[in-house]
Amino acid sequence: MSNFKNAETALIHGGISIDERTGAVNVPIYQTSTYKQDGLGKMRGYEYSRTGNPTREALEALIAELEGGVAGFAFGSGMAAITAVLSLLHSGDRVLISSNVYGGTFRLLSRVFDHFDFTYTIADTEHPDVYESQITDDVKAVIIESPANPLMTVTDISAIAEVSHRHGLLVIVDNTFMTPYLQKPLELGADIVVHSATKYLGGHSDVVSGLAVVSTKELAEKIAFIQNSTGGVLGPFDSFLLIRGIKTLAVRMDRHVYNAEKIAEFLSKHKAVKNVYYPGLSGSQGYETNRRQAKNGGAMISFELHENYDINSFFESLELVSLAESLGGVESLVCHPATMTHASIPADIRKKVGITDGLIRLSVGIENIEDILVDIEQAIAKSERK
Ligand SMILES: *Cc1c(COP(=O)(O)O)cnc(C)c1O
Repeated sequence: MSNFKNAETALIHGGISIDERTGAVNVPIYQTSTYKQDGLGKMRGYEYSRTGNPTREALEALIAELEGGVAGFAFGSGMAAITAVLSLLHSGDRVLISSNVYGGTFRLLSRVFDHFDFTYTIADTEHPDVYESQITDDVKAVIIESPANPLMTVTDISAIAEVSHRHGLLVIVDNTFMTPYLQKPLELGADIVVHSATKYLGGHSDVVSGLAVVSTKELAEKIAFIQNSTGGVLGPFDSFLLIRGIKTLAVRMDRHVYNAEKIAEFLSKHKAVKNVYYPGLSGSQGYETNRRQAKNGGAMISFELHENYDINSFFESLELVSLAESLGGVESLVCHPATMTHASIPADIRKKVGITDGLIRLSVGIENIEDILVDIEQAIAKSERK
């Protein structure tokens, strides 16, 4: 593995970045399911594409290098990556999850894994002391997101990893919102990083994919076995798209964050806005912790309008920014967590963790900042109840 010191270079040249045979500067799309064997037991390194495919392998080597892990694994979606990682656990085990965990992760635990008597507890990862008291004998792992969707709650990853390791837990961090360009959970003590690469890593809203990176050889062997056994692998063409997206991550992310900081500033001063949730805004929850563990606050912002603004009319009045699920693409998107991304979380739990019906989540794109601001401003103006 190459191990370039600077992130911008590693994104482009890291892992396996060229084709050794022809010198092509891009890894070819090996669109094949199987490989000819030269005799019984004489394989050229590949036997079947669920087990291994050169295009997928290039992506897996790249993400492992970017996250500073031992091995990477590519899956057909973020949920497939999380499912594979959680398959390390057994019946009778319990996993702790941050209160604002991604809705799909919550649904997987509460409605699929619960069939196997493998359960979860919503834990207070924002307060390491309280968190420690929630670790019972059956707890074997914790899933952290920082910042966590949609209130951009920051968890001190090193502190939680330290407490968790004292109790022998596996520390899993979903790094989708930050990407390795802004935050490296393995360096902060995590054992496994997972991604919905559908978001910033792909970056163009054109591929659904997931990645996992592990910190030890032992975990690498286990995940490789699970990946091959459960089969949720990423195809060669999608692997190629993801490699292509990752090459521009640094320039995209710099612009995403530049725009997000301007928008958070604007919203925080706007009379129509009740609350702004953005870890890059000084004075926000977790601002200091986030600054210690990440390069900046990222580009996801949530906010609430005052009661005299109609949020449905806000969504309908937006012209540039689209109302859509997902995030992390070049285009700005808004969503309504209560009915969209977090709808699978029961209303009482939603309310308890602060996901109100007035909450709006904005994935800041890389369009011209003035154009985004003008659009948000006119939509807010139109949504005021007269
Ligand atoms: C989207 C998302 C997922 C799920 O990923 P898919 O690619 O949609 O399966 C998991 N975690 C977070 C934080 C996400 O935003």
